[in-house]
Amino acid sequence: MKAVEQVPCPCCGSDDFSPWAEELGFFAVRCHGCALIYVNPRPLTAQIDSAVRTGVHGEDATYLDVRTRRVGAKIDLYRTVFDKMFVDVWRGGKPISWLDIGAGNGEIVEAISAIAPAGSQIGGVEPMEAKASRARARGLKVATSYLAPDHSKVDFVSIVDVFSHVPEFHDFLATVRSVLNPHGELFLETGNLADLDQRGDFPGELGLPDHLVFAGEKQIGMYLSRAGFEIAAIQRVRVDDTIYFAKSIVKRMLGRPYTIRLPYTSKYRQIRLRARLVA
Ligand SMILES: [Zn+2]
Repeated sequence: MKAVEQVPCPCCGSDDFSPWAEELGFFAVRCHGCALIYVNPRPLTAQIDSAVRTGVHGEDATYLDVRTRRVGAKIDLYRTVFDKMFVDVWRGGKPISWLDIGAGNGEIVEAISAIAPAGSQIGGVEPMEAKASRARARGLKVATSYLAPDHSKVDFVSIVDVFSHVPEFHDFLATVRSVLNPHGELFLETGNLADLDQRGDFPGELGLPDHLVFAGEKQIGMYLSRAGFEIAAIQRVRVDDTIYFAKSIVKRMLGRPYTIRLPYTSKYRQIRLRARLVA
């Protein structure tokens, strides 16, 4: 039996919601207060923690393995993304400190290391041992841990595809704030699922219960402003191109629950934003 508990909306605290999707026996609901989408009932905190550290969720019918391999193409992609979005930082030429939170196999740490000025301190924290040790094997400074409030202070943090894994993002951002220098900044990337009208508008699996929370731009803004951040730059990247279309047809043929949508018709976007602490 799954050990789960009813939880209020992790963004606005409302108890009022309606069903939105079901996957692997878990339910995602839409908050009536702020329109966030979140898993409710939710696995107990101890189970979430265990899955995050081992990369394995549940057993039998609910089994899900998320110990993904290193993706070399991610390094090139994020080199380009960070090169553009933080061009003023690189032009400044001064050494910086950067911490990637939920560093996975170290791809982001590697990307930043390639473009940061000489003398910069680039590292990461990753609670899943299988991934963190893979990053260390490549010579990267990635510790097997969650972000600790007493982590040494840094100038920048990146949080890439982490948001949906964090049950209580208000608490998480408070910890991020505590490790940032006074003029610190963050880079956050997540999908905008809560901006979609219905489940079928997202052409893929939701990844429940590995993913617990889905925001849109409004809810991300609510989380950031409560933690004292203001958005300095934002990019909205569509993923439903013709290659994605072809892949979703293949996955559908393999029996995966993909909704086939014509390319360039989905409102789904990857949101990439740069935010800074309000003085
Ligand atoms: Zn809410």
